[in-house]
Amino acid sequence: MRLRLLSGVGLIAVTAVVCGCGSEPAAKPVNTAANTAAKLKQAKAAQLALAAKVKANELGQIPVLMFHRVIKNPATTDDRTPEQFRGDLERLVKDGYVPITAAEYVTGKIDIPAGKHAVVLTFDDSSPSQLTLDEMGNLAPDTAIGILRDVAAKNPGFRPVATMYVTRDMFGKTVRDEQAQMLLWLKDNGFDIGNHTRDHINLRGRSEKEVEEQIATIQTMVSSLAFVKPVTIALPYGNQPHNKKWAMHGKLGDVTYDHKGVFLAGYTPAPAPFSKSFDPLGIPRIRAMDKKGDCKQFCSVAWLDWLKNNPDMRYTSDGDPLTVAFPKFKNPFLRTSFTARALAY
Ligand SMILES: [Zn+2]
Repeated sequence: MRLRLLSGVGLIAVTAVVCGCGSEPAAKPVNTAANTAAKLKQAKAAQLALAAKVKANELGQIPVLMFHRVIKNPATTDDRTPEQFRGDLERLVKDGYVPITAAEYVTGKIDIPAGKHAVVLTFDDSSPSQLTLDEMGNLAPDTAIGILRDVAAKNPGFRPVATMYVTRDMFGKTVRDEQAQMLLWLKDNGFDIGNHTRDHINLRGRSEKEVEEQIATIQTMVSSLAFVKPVTIALPYGNQPHNKKWAMHGKLGDVTYDHKGVFLAGYTPAPAPFSKSFDPLGIPRIRAMDKKGDCKQFCSVAWLDWLKNNPDMRYTSDGDPLTVAFPKFKNPFLRTSFTARALAY
């Protein structure tokens, strides 16, 4: 009997019936199992109810915003002034967005509160206007990262994270120790370091060897300075090489690179990583720009307006990073590799 008691709930229940030795000792473990099942069912019902309540849509679109310099006197339409950039971030706060990194996005590790929308902030070309540290190692407040951290401090829950796509320019630093200081600061403060090629050349029309050299050498630089490997790459000018897989995987001597996502310049929000439309070889980004000229429809302000007016198309979290929650009718859009995590309501 003692042995049987140890051998599992199912056996105990059978034993109790056969020998008639009283329901008390057997009933307890059986009930525990039943309770666990009931609790699981209750928890699932609560998850479904919450997902429905916040209109979770983890198959919806995510804006990946592309920033360049943040400077007082913009020289090109890619630049934002500090005031414009602060306005961009405050608008994201107001619309219920929470930043995630490009690495988190491509790997589907999206951990933001229920009802919030994911946004990816990306910065290209590693310019000092994005990150500058003084002699004491303190962040300059009027840089992009300084402004991002200030807005986040004033708006709890708005994560001060972004992906910095670096070239050999390394935030204006040429000395190895200083370059290391910049990259380590980024890493220690939760920023994601991405690959933007060594020399920022147009990869279209280049040989496989040239493409691999451009990508592998900057990866070596990043990993030797900061002990991290870029998870994603952003292509200069958004131009893909002759074979688009060359940007994703490649090698140079002993060095191999194996990205989880390739970002373009692009003109639309990006699909959720759980959606069938997600293509890691070509992820669109949106230029950060007002609704002017050729940006009337296809830059950040226009798209944020559109997503606000089309909430069923926008990514909305259920608050649980382990589930992929969405309205049942969207089931056909779920990538099959995420079936086990689906929470369809
Ligand atoms: Zn660039």
